[in-house]
Amino acid sequence: MTEGAKNGRGPAEGERAQKAPAAKKEKPDKCEQCGKPLGRVKWYYRNNGYYCTSRCWKEFRSKQTEAAQKAEAAPKA
Ligand SMILES: [Zn+2]
Repeated sequence: MTEGAKNGRGPAEGERAQKAPAAKKEKPDKCEQCGKPLGRVKWYYRNNGYYCTSRCWKEFRSKQTEAAQKAEAAPKA
């Protein structure tokens, strides 16, 4: 008889991985251009982006165009 040969077997229940909810593309609560909180009704959606007004969208777009042009103008090795 081998007493005291207990395996340290405890309940392994504390390892339940918490699943994060699937990441959906949802409407943010802020304008992507100016950071103003978007209302529940009033918002402007363009090109996967949410803005408070079409003006913000245009500003955002021109900003991106500028950045793209700069990147293109940058000397390449
Ligand atoms: Zn805005």
